[in-house]
Amino acid sequence: MNKDKNLSSEPKRRMTKQKQVILEELKKIYFHPSAEELYKIVKKRIDNISLSTIYRNLEVLSQSGLVKPITFSNDEGRFDGHMHEHYHIKCMVCGKIDDMALMIPDKHSEFFTKSSPLYKLTAMKIEFYGICPDCQTLKNRLVKRRRKKVDHEK
Ligand SMILES: [Zn+2]
Ligand SMILES: [Zn+2]
Repeated sequence: MNKDKNLSSEPKRRMTKQKQVILEELKKIYFHPSAEELYKIVKKRIDNISLSTIYRNLEVLSQSGLVKPITFSNDEGRFDGHMHEHYHIKCMVCGKIDDMALMIPDKHSEFFTKSSPLYKLTAMKIEFYGICPDCQTLKNRLVKRRRKKVDHEK
């Protein structure tokens, strides 16, 4: 009987290692990768891992509340290993999703109960969009280069 138990726990243990690596890598980064992006990162540590394994593990991790799936409207799913409550902002140029340093109002606050008193608020989802610092400097550089060119042509 013990033997059988050992046999059946073998794939489980491997799953746990994969899960652990996925979780570790996700906690190291702050750009909220898609499953494909995470696959490229995890593959550096577990060479023979497959994309479907990443998907499966992310689903399990999400269900157990260790990973937070993020979906911006019409977007592929992204994943967050940082579980504290926070808002996200998406760059309209490169599509990167960053954390926002903005306080989340308490969902039981007077502000919400007063604005729709007939509802008991249970969840909320707010999406922010902008242009990330990288894309802003890139844009500035392009504008400068264009201006230089125009000056030169004068
Ligand atoms: Zn950007
Ligand atoms: Zn986040």
